[in-house]
Amino acid sequence: MTRNLVRFVLALSAAAMVATAAPRAAGPLKVVTTTTDLGSLATEIGGDKVKVNSLALGNQDPHFVDAKPSFMALLSQADLLIVVGRELEIGWLPALINQARNAKIQLGANVYLDASLSAKILDIPTGPVTRAEGDVHPQGNPHYWLDPGNGRIMAQDIRDKFSQLDPANKAYYAQRYADFDQRLAAAEKRWDAAMAPFKGTKLVTYHRSWPNLMERWGLDVIGYVEPKPGIPPSPSHTIDLIGEMKRQNIKLIVVEPYFETKTPQSIASQVGGQVLVLPSSVGGASDATDYIKLFDHDVAAISAALGQAQRK
Ligand SMILES: [Zn+2]
Repeated sequence: MTRNLVRFVLALSAAAMVATAAPRAAGPLKVVTTTTDLGSLATEIGGDKVKVNSLALGNQDPHFVDAKPSFMALLSQADLLIVVGRELEIGWLPALINQARNAKIQLGANVYLDASLSAKILDIPTGPVTRAEGDVHPQGNPHYWLDPGNGRIMAQDIRDKFSQLDPANKAYYAQRYADFDQRLAAAEKRWDAAMAPFKGTKLVTYHRSWPNLMERWGLDVIGYVEPKPGIPPSPSHTIDLIGEMKRQNIKLIVVEPYFETKTPQSIASQVGGQVLVLPSSVGGASDATDYIKLFDHDVAAISAALGQAQRK
């Protein structure tokens, strides 16, 4: 089905089911998030007033998630669905939503929260983009959670949505947000200080997952192991990339945990550089257990790798 047709069918089924939507049962809000990052933010804000389940694992490619039978049970009972949006989940989520037959979480419904609506989105295409070219980022870069500034904005949207669905606990959600905001601000000071020495450093990443993180700390990504987002490496692109890294004396290749490391390792060995496997989501490394700890891990790993390269 074309994307427009999918949207049309989703809208139709939502319209058909809205009339039968049941009021929310007592007890914690049942929140389903597509990713663990959204799950962590929802837990920060919701505390014990919400029950959060995330569909994708933190070490899975969020563009391509295999549906598990458990997803259907979670979606059919959810009071709220929070998605990353920008078509990150378009390859796997629309069919699940349709099959879950839960009027509450249909696209455009009141309890479907697209976390990208207020966040700062980079890489918004200026010309037409089609998926036929393999580009999996046709609506701007969907990896925007990898900037703590966006995490704060997403947490605000989640606070507002929880308050709207569960107004009796509005003050509780506001207090949880204020606490998170304070801890995030303190952590940002740490991260900014750790990354300051590396401003302007050039590097390569596997997928275009990191523009928000790199912009935040002034790092310059000059190329990708993938020829295009979603397209596997090709020999000719790899040769070009090796040439460019040699010309610009670039020594670091950042790889998301769900990609093969054979190509990046081979590139690194030819340029005398190194590969850094970096979690891009909560749960992508054993110590990246929540949103703030994800950045603790990534900032420590990037600054250690770049510090080591500078000392060489
Ligand atoms: Zn992507």
